[in-house]
Amino acid sequence: MIPIAKPIIGEDEVRAVTEVLRSGIIAEGQKVKDFETAFAKYTGTSFAVAVNSGTAALHATLLAHGLGPGDEVITTPFSFVATANSVLFTGAKPVFADIREDTFNIDPESIVEKITPKTKAIIPVHLYGQSADMKAIMDIAEDKDLIIIEDACQAHGATFEGKSVGSFGDGTFSFYPTKNMTTSEGGIITTNNKDVAEKVRMIRSHGSKQRYLHEMLGFNLRMTDIAAAIGLVQLGKIGDFNRTRINNAKYFTKSLQKIKGLILPHVDKRCGHVFHQYTVRIRGDLSRDEVVSSLNKMDVGTGIYYPLPIHKQPYYKELGYNDSLPVSEEASREVISLPIHPSLTMSHLETISDKLREIIG
Ligand SMILES: *Cc1c(COP(=O)(O)O)cnc(C)c1O
Repeated sequence: MIPIAKPIIGEDEVRAVTEVLRSGIIAEGQKVKDFETAFAKYTGTSFAVAVNSGTAALHATLLAHGLGPGDEVITTPFSFVATANSVLFTGAKPVFADIREDTFNIDPESIVEKITPKTKAIIPVHLYGQSADMKAIMDIAEDKDLIIIEDACQAHGATFEGKSVGSFGDGTFSFYPTKNMTTSEGGIITTNNKDVAEKVRMIRSHGSKQRYLHEMLGFNLRMTDIAAAIGLVQLGKIGDFNRTRINNAKYFTKSLQKIKGLILPHVDKRCGHVFHQYTVRIRGDLSRDEVVSSLNKMDVGTGIYYPLPIHKQPYYKELGYNDSLPVSEEASREVISLPIHPSLTMSHLETISDKLREIIG
């Protein structure tokens, strides 16, 4: 089976981890600091604060802005559930805007419709490695005085009008093994706001700046030096990883064009897309689920991101969500992600493309 995702861990990562283990300092230490400095530089932001997951990055950033009960945060339902859950953790209410049909990213026009006097923040998600429309979103934020927290968990290295994602508002990234780069589990917050950086640092470690002096309620969200050591090595490779993803995408876009019933990814001209996923839509006679099962029978792995939008999840229904968000709901029925990760060979790419044509063509 050609897997849908596969982390690339080389001898460099093994050596880096071994070095940390031998040093005796295995929790948060100098490696985490070095990783933060390097990641801030990578995104062109003033500060980066490493935590133990992308979810923790979202949660801590929302708390740092003081969001809580009575506040509304507008986000997309077409994302991993962590995006909206992080809002629930704080006691604030996630409010869902629909997505654009072409990019699958949050639709600025729908955001405007969902703004109420309680709206405090927007969480755009840069889905599949392509930036949301940060021009329109930053204009709305300025106009309505809203906080922007970018969920860049799938978009390390992605740009909008030449600027790195995670540098428009506050950025949150995940380093889970299936992402464009990994630390095993891990996450990071990027910001140009000194106050936010200071607060998330405290929230990461039980609300303390000084050991055993607790100025606010916090958690243990710390990254380990073991994880940071992997991250430092991976950060040196992310440029190559992303270039390979982009080339793989080019191959598919060329070899799969003009097949009836198959809609290929749309790249917004303003975006540097890093193809965390290569996601197509299946329309017409064949059902998406038939295509998935045929591909899997032919040993081609697939992903469906996401089969159920967040507002339709059982837990959200229990909370009383019953929005109609037709573009998201349709996308959930039609999308298939093909393997695009950098460990694929040319022969893998040919197989994936040939099998898909065989099924649909
Ligand atoms: C992976 C992911 C997260 C959560 O990151 P974890 O490190 O798994 O907690 C949040 N949002 C999106 C869009 C993601 O893809």
